[in-house]
Amino acid sequence: MLINRYKKSGNFSKKRLMVLASTIALILLASASLFYIKYSKETKPISEVISNAIEDVLEPVTVVEKNGNIVCLDPGHGGSDVGAIYKKLYEADINLTVAKDLQAHLENDGYTVYMTRSDDSFVEKRARSTYCNSVNADILVSIHHNTYDADHSVNYSTVLYYKDSDKLLASSILNANSELLEIESKGIVKFDNSLFWTANMPSILSEALFMTNTAEYTQISKSNSARLSAEATSLETGIKNYFENPDGIVASTNNDSITIDRIDQD
Ligand SMILES: [Zn+2]
Repeated sequence: MLINRYKKSGNFSKKRLMVLASTIALILLASASLFYIKYSKETKPISEVISNAIEDVLEPVTVVEKNGNIVCLDPGHGGSDVGAIYKKLYEADINLTVAKDLQAHLENDGYTVYMTRSDDSFVEKRARSTYCNSVNADILVSIHHNTYDADHSVNYSTVLYYKDSDKLLASSILNANSELLEIESKGIVKFDNSLFWTANMPSILSEALFMTNTAEYTQISKSNSARLSAEATSLETGIKNYFENPDGIVASTNNDSITIDRIDQD
């Protein structure tokens, strides 16, 4: 019994020793950690720490404001319908180039943009305005380029419309195209075309310049054409003025007798 008690007592002492040693080791480790934390970091007053944390949270972030306006862009022609042709230039291609550039500009401005086509595919004219109706677009902007093979010096800007409620948008875009591209304005033209018949929103067809004009052809036939890029910017300006400064738009004169790209009359 005594031996057993001794043994028990001996075991108990060993355990106590081990617990004591572990506790001391833990205390030393914790002290060393606290010492490290205290002296290894730069100490700052607590008010400064809090104010820095608030600044981190409130740091300004660049956010494009959504203005809620929906624009339906219609690059004219496409697929089997190449539109006007001059030398090796197809109207359908440059219409799409300008439309894609314009789409990027407008999306950057916070507009929501839908495209009746985004590649070289054929879309019926009526299907284009039906599509713009289906996305609840606020405006429809159809992008075309004019041609006149009989005289390569001819160049002017015009915008075609159909309803009276299209006229403000037509004037806004014509004024911007004419001013920024430095081309004579020939006024807006009433145009009875299936593209417009079922459109629920102000709708226009832009003919910013003549692709058959010698000086224009030289510029717009280049790859990454700065001229077509400038046209996207002028269309963007016309669209932004329409939404953001409608009172500042000078009404363009009507010029219904004007000659327009015969292909667009089909
Ligand atoms: Zn066209």
